[in-house]
Parts: sequence; structure tokens; C-alpha cells
Amino acid sequence: MSGAPLRTPDRQQSDLIGELVAVVGSDHVMTNPDDMAGRLKEDRGLFNGTAMAIVRPGSTAEVAACLRLCFAAGVAVVPQGGNTGLVGGGVPDGGVIVTTQRLNRIRAVDTTNATMTVEAGCILANIQAAADEVDALFPLSLASEGSCQIGGNLSTNAGGTAVLRYGNMRDLVLGLEVVLPDGRVLNDLGSLRKNNTGYDLRNLFIGAEGTLGIITAAVIKLFPKPTARATALVACDGPDAALALYARMRGSDADTLSTFEYIERLGLQMVVDHAPGCTDPMNEAHPAYCLIELTSGTAQAALDTRLQAALEAAFEAEEIADAVIGTSEAQKDALWALRENLSEAQKPEGASIKHDVSVPVSRVADFIQVAKAACVEHMPDLRPCPFGHFGDGNIHFNLSRPVDMADAVFLAEYATFNRIVHDIVHDMSGSISAEHGIGQVKRAELRRYKDPVALELMEQIKRTIDPAGLMNPGKVL
Ligand code: FAD
Repeated sequence: MSGAPLRTPDRQQSDLIGELVAVVGSDHVMTNPDDMAGRLKEDRGLFNGTAMAIVRPGSTAEVAACLRLCFAAGVAVVPQGGNTGLVGGGVPDGGVIVTTQRLNRIRAVDTTNATMTVEAGCILANIQAAADEVDALFPLSLASEGSCQIGGNLSTNAGGTAVLRYGNMRDLVLGLEVVLPDGRVLNDLGSLRKNNTGYDLRNLFIGAEGTLGIITAAVIKLFPKPTARATALVACDGPDAALALYARMRGSDADTLSTFEYIERLGLQMVVDHAPGCTDPMNEAHPAYCLIELTSGTAQAALDTRLQAALEAAFEAEEIADAVIGTSEAQKDALWALRENLSEAQKPEGASIKHDVSVPVSRVADFIQVAKAACVEHMPDLRPCPFGHFGDGNIHFNLSRPVDMADAVFLAEYATFNRIVHDIVHDMSGSISAEHGIGQVKRAELRRYKDPVALELMEQIKRTIDPAGLMNPGKVL
């Protein structure tokens, strides 16, 4: 550390703004409230913040200079990427927002090492496209991929729909470059697959939600690009049948199984009702559905045969009631659209209370059933809409309000439903935040459920790296 920051309460805000302008140029410092408005809140509108300025540095050196200035002035810094986070992690409460928007270069591609060195502001979809150009795959995939940035993905340890096969963001990165709160630059931008030289500092910053520093670049892993995918929407009786099917598919197709997503009838109906162009591909309604995808570098016909065989066996074992297999790329995309539009399709149905939770995969069917029953017992007309990454044990346990209830009346029950759901998750050795993080939304819940020694260590780490508490204050801890 280069010493405690000079706390100068009488220091004029304009001095700091002027110094920031000197570093990044006047085009890249915003102070007008109208210009800043979009970055003072996130999409769900749960939090509205304030900031003295938004700064857009164009290089790691500029990020470092900005952080040095804020550190010296004792002013808080809030990192922002694409601002698609869902837990209030990027919403400021004063201080300076530093966006990584202009750090958008792909610095290097090494196809032999199967790595790409990217700056933090690269949009995820652009990284996927760059990988595709060299005939490789960067597998992280989220519905927000057109606007979220890799720095945000790293800082939230993002998950998505390909975790089952490739892991989450933490599994997809080899090296990081990070600007620390006092402006020092940690260069851990290695591209090594083996490196046992002490503590794993990189993993401290992944999932830290900007509370320990600003990630400016990363070395990410590339994978062989699949040449074939076989996609099916399968109808079943509910979570137990889905779990039996999942176990079957793991047994027969673990090497190719890339997606195993779960949707209940209510969710599918919402998509059919509200998402343009989406239709139910089956003749009759079923209690639940699984979107399954196998991918591989083998011939398409071989993969289709494997999926067909697994589903036929599941049908004979009475685990599934119906299945639609996509026979063209357009049909496969249409099946995916039923899953991808689910979050958006819930909005016209009124307020919903959301839980992004995980349990061991072997408990996921139990969890869905127990949590639904407990929530409906509390509010009989409630419309539970659990869906998501079943194969990762990660369910978005969303509750849509009763049809006739006012949004505000329903949302007043948020804390009660949190307690019901999170207690069940905790009892099943699960996590109250599977992939979206803690941000502001789950700070109190983290204190309630996290191991006390783990919390103490997290606080000690925070104090060591950010002794003045200037990096994204009020988030996580
Ligand atoms: P932001 O929202 O800008 O920031 C998120 C957090 O990271 C904040 O705390 C911020 O301070 C910090 N941060 C951002 N950049 C940096 C940086 N360079 N250095 C340090 N800290 C930084 N998430 C999933 O995991 N899986 C999903 O399937 C998924 N689906 C989604 C679908 C939709 C429609 C939407 C809107 C969101 C979804 N999300 C999902 C949540 C969100 O997209 C992810 O959390 C994403 O990784 C956030 O990236 P971002 O660039 O938008 O980060």
C-alpha cells in the first residue's frame, strides 16, 4: 500500500473532476445528471443511485491514474461494465463511476495455447464472435451477452447456459490484470495452465463485484468449436422426472451434454403469451419441460442418433411424455427462444420476487417441490415460476404475484419469501446466490447464511486490499 489516502473533506469536487479530465480528456468525463441517468440505476430499477461523475478511461494506465486521484481525494469508485447486473452491484451511492466501455480491444489471440487476451470492456458477444473467427469457441453464454462485458462477467463470476459443459467464468480464465484501489497495477495476466507459485490472487478478484479493484484485462480460454448440435424440448411430469432424465443423460451423454434447462408450464405459457414469434411446439400442455442440447465435433447424424436413442429410452422408462427434436437450425433456435425469452415474458404478468439459488444437483427436484409448497402455503394464489440451469443445480426460483394482487402489496412480502426460500436452500446445503452475486440486494442475507469464519476472512481481505473502503462501498460486505 502507498499509505492511507489524504482525506481532505474541504477539497473541491471540481478539483478532482478537473484532474480526471486532465487524465482522460473532457469528452470522457460526464457530470451532467441527465447524461449520467442511465448509469445510476440498473434494468430492474430496484436501486437508484447518485454519482459526482462518470469517467471513461481508455487504457489501463488511465484507469490507474483515475484510481490514484480518487484514492488521494478519498472519493469512492464504482466500476461499471455493461450495467446488466441484477443485484445493484454497479449502482453508486455517490463517488465516481469508472466505466470500462473504452477498454474494448482484443490484445492477442493464441490459437495454439487456446487463449485470447481481452480488455475488460469487450462485450461478451464480440468475444464469442472473435473466437468464432479463429474457428474456436468461447463458451460463456448469457441472455445479456449483447451488452454485458467480460470485466462484468469476471467480477460477477457469471454462469449462464453452458456451465454444465464448460464451467462458469472462474473456470474460463487463466490470467488477470487489475488496478488496485490505490492505483497500483497487479499484472497477473499469465496464460499458463500450470502455475503453482503461492496464493491464487486471481480468484480473489473474480466474483468480487468490484469491491477489490478494477479488472482491466484477462486471458480467457478457448475451446474447440462444436460442428454439430442436437437440441430437444422434452415434456415431463415435473422436477422428479426431470432429475431422472438428467441422470440418464449424464450416464449416456456426459461427454456431449451442454445444456439441461428446466421450465414449468406457467413459464412456457408466459413465453407463448408474451414473446413475439414464440409458439408451443407440442400439441398438449405438460407440467414441465427440459431444453436439452448435445454438442460435439462429430457428424450431425451421429449426434442426432445419440439424442434420439436417449430420449427413446427415457420415453420407455416413462420419464418423459413427449419430445420435439429440432431438425433445422431455425427449429433449434426456436426451441432456445422459449428459454431465452422467459425472464422478459414474466414482466407483463406483474411484479415477481426472484431468487437466484443453487443446491446440489441431486437435491434440485426436492428443492423445487419443497420451496413451491412452502411459498404457496404462505400465499395460496401465488404463481411460482421456477426455471433455469437445472443441470447446474441453479434454479431461478421466481414467484409471480397472484393475478388479482397489486404489485406493491405483493412486493411487501419480499423479505418473507426470501426467508422461506433461503432457509430451505440453506438446509439443503445450497447457496443464496448461484450466479448473479450479492451486490446490494443480498448483503444482509450473506451475513445470515455465510460461514462466520469465511465472512471474517473476506472482511480481512477487503481491509488489506482496500483499507480506505473506497472500492464499490456498500456492496457484498
Ligand atoms: P455490470 O452490471 O456493469 O457490473 C456487475 C458488477 O461487477 C458490479 O458490481 C460492478 O461494480 C462490477 N464490475 C463491472 N465491471 C468490472 C470491472 N472491470 N472490474 C471490477 N468490477 C467490475 N448472469 C449470469 O451469471 N447468468 C445468466 O444467465 C444471466 N442472465 C441474464 C439475463 C439478462 C436478461 C440480464 C439483464 C442479466 C443476466 N445476468 C446473468 C446478469 C448479468 O448479465 C451478469 O451478471 C453479467 O456478468 C454482468 O456484466 P456487466 O458487464 O453488465 O457488469
